[in-house]
Amino acid sequence: MTNTAETVWTNCLSFIEDNITQQAYKTWFEPIKAVKLTDNALNIQVPSKFFYEWLEEHYVKLLKVALTKELGATAKLVYVIRMENTYGNKQPFTERIPSSNRSNSTSSQNVNVPLKSKSPELKNPFIIPGIRNVKIESQLNPNYNFENYLEGESNRLARSAGIAVANKPGGTSFNPLLIFGGVGLGKTHLAHAIGVDVKDKYPEKTVLYISAEKFVQQYSESVKKNNRNDFIHFYQVIDVLIVDDIQLLSGKAGTQDVFFHIFNHLHQNGKQVILTSDKAPVDMIDIEQRLLSRFKWGLSAELNHPDYETRVAIIKNKLYRDGVEMPDDIVEFLANNIKTNIRELEGAIISLIAHSSFNKKEITIDLAKKIVDNYVKHTKREVSIDYIQKVVSDYFQMDVETLQSKTRKRHIVQARQLAMFFAKKFTKASLASIGSQIGQRDHATVLHACKTVDNLSSTDKQFRKYVEDLQKKLTI
Ligand code: ADP
Ligand code: MG
Repeated sequence: MTNTAETVWTNCLSFIEDNITQQAYKTWFEPIKAVKLTDNALNIQVPSKFFYEWLEEHYVKLLKVALTKELGATAKLVYVIRMENTYGNKQPFTERIPSSNRSNSTSSQNVNVPLKSKSPELKNPFIIPGIRNVKIESQLNPNYNFENYLEGESNRLARSAGIAVANKPGGTSFNPLLIFGGVGLGKTHLAHAIGVDVKDKYPEKTVLYISAEKFVQQYSESVKKNNRNDFIHFYQVIDVLIVDDIQLLSGKAGTQDVFFHIFNHLHQNGKQVILTSDKAPVDMIDIEQRLLSRFKWGLSAELNHPDYETRVAIIKNKLYRDGVEMPDDIVEFLANNIKTNIRELEGAIISLIAHSSFNKKEITIDLAKKIVDNYVKHTKREVSIDYIQKVVSDYFQMDVETLQSKTRKRHIVQARQLAMFFAKKFTKASLASIGSQIGQRDHATVLHACKTVDNLSSTDKQFRKYVEDLQKKLTI
């Protein structure tokens, strides 16, 4: 049987659907049509350039995984943008041209792949800086720059420190520069912006952005493959090392140890280290004291919730960049209703634009209200069973496999029962489905777990504390 564009795409879709929210799937994937498959390149048609950019920015990894599963490592993806206003014109209009000379080019381009693109200006999320790589890709996202990182009271210190560091990496007293603050407040953006600016000013410097999560993974790989030293050397040649979300090193003693050595080496050699965290150093748990004290050597700068003016400015800037107009009262409405998370603010704008453009509706206050309601509620409720298991196992300092295992050790059984209890409480999943996701148990086990947790929390003080702590962690 031969693969047709349609069957390949249908298979990709079912994989994608399982991996994102229903809302996102409906908005971003249902409108796509597969048009042809030649030379292992799948051509998909998307409704607009905006749409394409959104896919590229948010779903490129997922698309790549889905496509590679279907077509193997040589898979390519070509976007065909349905031209607005030029009826019947099927000229492909795709990316990878700098925006200044974007035009109705007749050549279509491959987007995700080839996976080993050499061209340095292309952002290629698939080259993870491997050990022994000669040239280190900085993994920076050029869209996260200072130009579109708006300044406000809430970020002034962090932003100026970032600029100072970018001007003189390793040469200020802000070393390390630790940026901390809650979710969606701009840590990752700022961290990239510093890196992008350094690269601009000092192209010869080796800059590397890495999430702590990936760092942990790489480290454990290196231990498995017995090349821990190569791993360390790789990091020691970097001039500006940016590690995002270092709170994720918590509880990982081996990785902390190796990071400690890398940090010392870089610091002693006048190299710059930039870190982000969702907590202030004093609040970090399960991070070794000697590492924590290093974090405090330089400057810790907090990102706070943006004030009203900053929120309005951020919305307007985003609209301006997307070339969308929106009445002021709606901008104000959004700024008044989404206050604590810039990512949510952006999400609501995008949803609003998407809804209005797909349904050909005008952007009205009513539509905005609906979206804010859905959006804000939606993100608050977005607790998955996986997430619950992760939170519970972190809390009891075990890994998820242990929590799911068949063991009858009391503390593990309790952790598992708590995970089931919260899955029942915070998700709409059935008892059977909760059971099957938490270590392949049946619905009766889940029911029993829920009852046990209820009983224990009214009779056992320590246990009640567990429930309360976890409840807090899951609802913020
Ligand atoms: P964090 O890493 O703190 O969770 P991000 O850096 O991912 O947050 O920011 C969330 C979103 O908000 C990003 O799309 C980012 O571009 C945007 N954002 C955050 N701060 C600003 C700002 N000061 N100006 C413009 N956009 C911002
Ligand atoms: Mg982040």
